[in-house]
Amino acid sequence: MTGRDSIDHRWLRAAVDLSRRCPSKPTAYAVGAIVVARDGAELARGYSRETDEHVHAEQSALGKLAGTGVDLSGATIYSSLEPCSVRAHASPTCTQLILVAGIRRVVLAMREPLGFVDCQGVELLEAAGVEVVEMPEFADEVRLINAHVPLDPDPRSLP
Ligand SMILES: [Zn+2]
Repeated sequence: MTGRDSIDHRWLRAAVDLSRRCPSKPTAYAVGAIVVARDGAELARGYSRETDEHVHAEQSALGKLAGTGVDLSGATIYSSLEPCSVRAHASPTCTQLILVAGIRRVVLAMREPLGFVDCQGVELLEAAGVEVVEMPEFADEVRLINAHVPLDPDPRSLP
């Protein structure tokens, strides 16, 4: 592992661990997300349903930075699952929130499984010039943490 790989590994490890704190919900993924500055300092973290039953991990973490004026252009967001690109509720998607925040680097453990929707998070981020790094060594663990989510749930229960 190079230096950057091992730093990425350590932060994604922490994001996956964080996802275990999500209140369980049979129709929604458990995700952890951590925003880290260019100099390696943690800026914020969040997890699914942390503050209300609809909040997503990236949304929760980025919400803590809203209005702080912190420059996120050199930051990386670590997420245990691909940022969402479709939401049934009125909130913006995590992909949109990342782009609006100005974050230019995303490290994730795995893409969202086909189930709820065809998630286009990685495609949309890359199309916007954001660097996306996948670390598949965490995928089996993330899949296990999300084993409660049925593969073909009722789309009306989309979080
Ligand atoms: Zn989301």
